[in-house]
Amino acid sequence: MTADLTRPVLPLRPELAGLEPYGAPQLDVPYLLNVNENPYAPSPQVIASIADAVTRAAAGLNRYPDRDFPALRADLAAYLLAESGVAVAPEQVWAANGSNEIMLHVLQAFGGPGRTALSFAPTYSMYPEYARDTSTAWVAGRREDDFSLDAGVARAAIAEHHPSVVLLASPNNPTGTALARETVLAVLDAAAQVPGGCVVVVDEAYGEFRRRGTPSALELLADHPHLAVSRTMSKAFGLAGARVGYLATAPAFVDALRVVRLPYHLSAVTQAVARAALAHAPELMAQVGALRDERDALVEWLRAHGLQVADSDANFVLFGTFTDRRAVWQGLLDRGVLIREVGPQGWLRVSVGTPQETAAFKDALVEVAGL
Ligand SMILES: *Cc1c(COP(=O)(O)O)cnc(C)c1O
Repeated sequence: MTADLTRPVLPLRPELAGLEPYGAPQLDVPYLLNVNENPYAPSPQVIASIADAVTRAAAGLNRYPDRDFPALRADLAAYLLAESGVAVAPEQVWAANGSNEIMLHVLQAFGGPGRTALSFAPTYSMYPEYARDTSTAWVAGRREDDFSLDAGVARAAIAEHHPSVVLLASPNNPTGTALARETVLAVLDAAAQVPGGCVVVVDEAYGEFRRRGTPSALELLADHPHLAVSRTMSKAFGLAGARVGYLATAPAFVDALRVVRLPYHLSAVTQAVARAALAHAPELMAQVGALRDERDALVEWLRAHGLQVADSDANFVLFGTFTDRRAVWQGLLDRGVLIREVGPQGWLRVSVGTPQETAAFKDALVEVAGL
C-alpha cells in the first residue's frame, strides 16, 4: 500500500488536534487599530541609529551572540529606573524575543506537567496557550463586572488551586484596567503561602501608558523575590517588529530562566536594535505622553456618545456594548478601519492611533452605530 503523502500520520499531541494558530487578522486596510501597536514609525534619527548598530553587528555575525547579553540588560535596567524610578541591577533583568517568549521561559521553568497556572478572565488570550504548550494546567478565575480583581476572590482562587504560576496583566488586555496595589499585594501574600512555592508575574506590557497615580508593580520587587514584572518594547516603545520583551525580578528567578532558554536565543542583531532604540528612550517617552492624552480624549468621546467604556491605563479602549458587535466590527472594516473583536460579549477594542486615525475611527463609528 502506498502512503497518502497529503495526509501523513503525525504523532500530534492530542491536546493540539484540530487547533488553528493564534493571531489577529492581518488585513491591508488604511487604519490599523487592532493590535495596540504604537502608530508612529521610528523617527529618522532612531532609524539611523538602528541601521548603524546593525551594520556594526553584521561585521561579527560569523560569531554566536553573547548568551547573557549583559549590556542590553544594563540598558534595560537604566530605562526602568528612568521610567518608573525603581532601581534594579542588570542581573535582575532578563530579555527574550517578545514578552511572549519571556512567558514561555517562565512556564518552562515554573510550570509543567502536574502544575497549574492561574489568571483571571477576561485577560490576554495567549496565557492559556503558553500553559498548553508547556503542558501546564490552566485555571481562569473571574474578574468583577468593572474588570477589577477582588483581592478576596484572588486569595481564594490561589488557596484552592495551589498554582505554581499566577499571571496578572496590569494594565489588563483586552480591558485596559490596571490592578490596585492592594490586590497585587494580596496575590503576592497568598502566593507566598502555596506549599512548594508560587511565582507571580505582573505583565506590564502597557505599563508606560498608566495614568498618573497608577502604581507599577516594579515598586514591589524589592520585598517580593517571587514576583516578576514583565515589560515589552512592542507597545509604548514602538518596536513591535524587533521582538524584544523583558522582565525584572530577583536574581535567583532570572537564574531559573537561564536554564530553560535556548542558547543564543537573542540574536546579535536583535540585541543591537534594542540597544540603539533604548538610547533614544527620552524622545519615545515624550510621544507616549501624547498617546495617553489621545486615549483619555477618546474615552471621554465614547462616553459622551452614550457608550460604556472600561477605565483604561493602556493604549487601547474597550467599549460597547453592542447586541451585534460583529456587525459593528464589519461596518468599520468596510470603511477601512480595522479594530479587534475581542473580550466579553458585546464589547469591542480599539487601539489609540494618530489623531488622524482616531478621527477616521470616530467618523466610521458614528455612521455604523448611529451614535
Ligand atoms: C501585546 C502584549 C504583550 C507583548 O507581547 P510581545 O511578545 O512583547 O510583543 C504582552 N502581554 C500582553 C497582555 C499584551 O497585550
